[in-house]
Amino acid sequence: MTVTPMMAQYLDIKAQYPDALLFYRMGDFYEMFFEDAVNAAEALDIALTKRGKHEGEDIPMCGVPVHAAEGYLLTLIRKGFRVAVGEQMESPAEAKKRGYKAVVKRDVVRLVTPGTLTEDSLLEARRHNFLVAYSELRDSAALAWADISTGAFHVMPVARVRLSPELARLAPSELIVADGPVYDHCLPLADEYKIPLTPLGKASFDSTASEKRLCTLFNVGALDGFGTFQRAEISAMGALIDYLEITQKGKLPLLQPPVQEAEDRVVQIDAATRRNLELTRSLSGARAGSLLSVIDRTVTPGGARLLEQRLSSPSRSLDIIAARLEALDRVHSDPTLGTSIRDNLRKTPDMDRALSRLALERAGPRDLAAIRNALTQGEAIRSFLANYELPHLMAGAAANLAGFDALLDLLDASLVAEPPLVARDGGFIAEGYNPELDEARTLRDEGRSVIAGLQQQYAELTGISSIKIKHNNVLGYFVETTATHAEKMLSQSLSETFIHRQTTANQVRFTTVELSELETKILNAGNLALEIEKRLYQTLSNAILNVAARLNQAARGFAELDLITALADLARAENWCRPKVDNSRAFAVTGGRHPVVEQALRQQGGEPFVANDCDLSATDGAAVWLLTGPNMAGKSTFLRQNALIALLAQMGSYVPAETAHVGLVSQLFSRVGASDDLARGRSTFMVEMVETAAILNQADDRALVILDEIGRGTATYDGLSIAWATLEHLHEVNRSRALFATHYHELTQLAAKLPGVSNATVSVKEWEGEVIFLHEVRKGAADRSYGVQVAQLAGLPASVVARARDVLDMLERSSREGGGSSIQIDDLPLFAAAPPPQPQPMASVPSAVETLLGDLNPDDLSPREALEALYRLKEAS
Ligand code: ADP
Repeated sequence: MTVTPMMAQYLDIKAQYPDALLFYRMGDFYEMFFEDAVNAAEALDIALTKRGKHEGEDIPMCGVPVHAAEGYLLTLIRKGFRVAVGEQMESPAEAKKRGYKAVVKRDVVRLVTPGTLTEDSLLEARRHNFLVAYSELRDSAALAWADISTGAFHVMPVARVRLSPELARLAPSELIVADGPVYDHCLPLADEYKIPLTPLGKASFDSTASEKRLCTLFNVGALDGFGTFQRAEISAMGALIDYLEITQKGKLPLLQPPVQEAEDRVVQIDAATRRNLELTRSLSGARAGSLLSVIDRTVTPGGARLLEQRLSSPSRSLDIIAARLEALDRVHSDPTLGTSIRDNLRKTPDMDRALSRLALERAGPRDLAAIRNALTQGEAIRSFLANYELPHLMAGAAANLAGFDALLDLLDASLVAEPPLVARDGGFIAEGYNPELDEARTLRDEGRSVIAGLQQQYAELTGISSIKIKHNNVLGYFVETTATHAEKMLSQSLSETFIHRQTTANQVRFTTVELSELETKILNAGNLALEIEKRLYQTLSNAILNVAARLNQAARGFAELDLITALADLARAENWCRPKVDNSRAFAVTGGRHPVVEQALRQQGGEPFVANDCDLSATDGAAVWLLTGPNMAGKSTFLRQNALIALLAQMGSYVPAETAHVGLVSQLFSRVGASDDLARGRSTFMVEMVETAAILNQADDRALVILDEIGRGTATYDGLSIAWATLEHLHEVNRSRALFATHYHELTQLAAKLPGVSNATVSVKEWEGEVIFLHEVRKGAADRSYGVQVAQLAGLPASVVARARDVLDMLERSSREGGGSSIQIDDLPLFAAAPPPQPQPMASVPSAVETLLGDLNPDDLSPREALEALYRLKEAS
């Protein structure tokens, strides 16, 4: 069976990209064939057609127009596909020169994967897009990550057990690992976190080859200048670069030199803790409802990305925290300073991403303008700040904005105010910048008016006033007249000037020597203008890329200023306080609040949030608060708000409290008892225990631990025993600062035995048999759990509530009297035999109707029960 030359070419290219959809360029479309077509048509919801036959079968085909390709790409990437973009590498005319049947040369120019996006339309502006490589060698392992849309590049050694929490922190868009066992053991993790996992050949991870790759990329002889790296780190970085070479087809993005991170520089927060605390995503996975969404007041995408990064990795360095707080303080105490900076920042484009597109030759004139506009704002901010005495961090950020005078002058002079998106059609270089360009443009534009004059001249010459000079793509410029007048034109005297070109149904078309000369001139001038603009585009792009590293620094300066002013704005608006962070083991908060719950309550317009104190200050031992109180009292909220306050303080922010003293926290753990965690659908109790085990095995005396209803996922006595033992272990072995919420009142006895444990309770008030939540945390144990009252609130039938009260009374009496509860419970009459609730004695003897009425509680009745009650009343009357 013969295969057409085009199909042969297609199959050849496709064979090199078996894991990707191949976008095969044909004129104005990207076509897909075979399996690719079937999959893409379904994913994109576009028509599946066919084209020709292959081995006797129809070839399925679908296509997307090139001009709309980005939108389709986005959908495909979101749905987990990778796309190889195959372009035509020559024009059909060039192909023809090689032979009548020659197929246009095509090649893949780019492999689009989730971790290697650069287009604004494919990226979330306010989030990083990390491509992460994990390398595991015999003796060590490491992670390297880069955001090619901003140039950020990081690396750090990682213990195998720490892979999961680090991935949770980085939230990669794509993870690359060596094919084989490493791939196999990363697969479940990638599945759990929904990270696209890409296997790469082992050769990509070879550390010797990696070192060479890195040296070439950064144009250095050795990597020592960037730090001392372990082999696994070099291997991870090298694999990442190799993957970029594969996907970008040799065009390497602008990466900044690798920044080496270390686990001990940031607060360690594992995946479960991140999820429970809803730091950057709520439990449902959305940004809305997360802490990030509530505190984000940044006005630039770069600032938003920095905020997410800081919140994901709070610092453990007192110096860094102090510097950030000092800067924040400065703006906090002088709000006009922040307002002015923010006014300028709002007009500052995303320079990082424009730069990265320029480096990958995927940019357009608007990216040049983005750099110009950003630098203009940078200059305004810098000169404004020059009047102020600034703390170190702000002064540094402002200094990063300086030193671009020459570039800014160049861009200002050369670019129009609002350039078009693509360079292809020109029109982005300002008038008066390049005399050669101005001349070509004048010629091109004048030519057009000369043509209008020529038409006038021809009308006079021929005496045909309706004669027109027109233009189309086939003939170029031509003179047109109606068939009735044509004869005149063909007459002896005029036929020398007017050369016949074409006769249509109603019109006859001519050309003249003059006209075609003019046409060539216009065309040449137009082409020349385009040529010059293209050349200038390249010059400007080079001028920018020459200072790319400094521009990245400037972008970092913008982001830092944005974050400082945004956090200051938040602190003022929400009345947050500056925390004291030091090397002690204090943890003392007065008037603490949970920012997300507080905001939700405010939006609901109901009761305001009740602020609460917490004191877990410890010297050498543990400091644990055992928190009891009924469900819905606010235990979880209190627990989480304190974890969040620690976290916010260490990222260098003010905190939602009146005062806060945080002794450096190195690890943060948060666990919720199983039944709150049903969404994850595994054996939840097992998960709960695995997670608790992780804490007990890892937490140290600098950890802050938050345990919410641990042990709830199993039978009462099991649960109580596990909670008991866990608390003891935390106190005796881990010696952490901890908050422990439980509904097992028995645990409150531990406070008397363990010196570091104190009881606290969220108070409620009982009023006319109902419970009212006060949401106040105070020292001491809850006197009772109020479970029965809460059940009543929840709408349990009155008879069940009454019965529960009886059982509870009996149990409480028996435990007071020390008798075996089972004997007492045996004494309780069976539920079915329980007497109906007795009516309250009334002043006079009640009638049957009154008795029935007395028993009714309209709030507890369903419509149907209400109807039945009516019938009963009627009957009794
Ligand atoms: P628990 O863990 O004790 O069951 P939660 O912490 O889940 O209770 O709180 C239940 C609800 O009570 C929250 O959704 C919130 O609306 C409200 N709440 C909690 N704490 C406070 C508070 N300090 N002030 C006002 N309302 C609160």
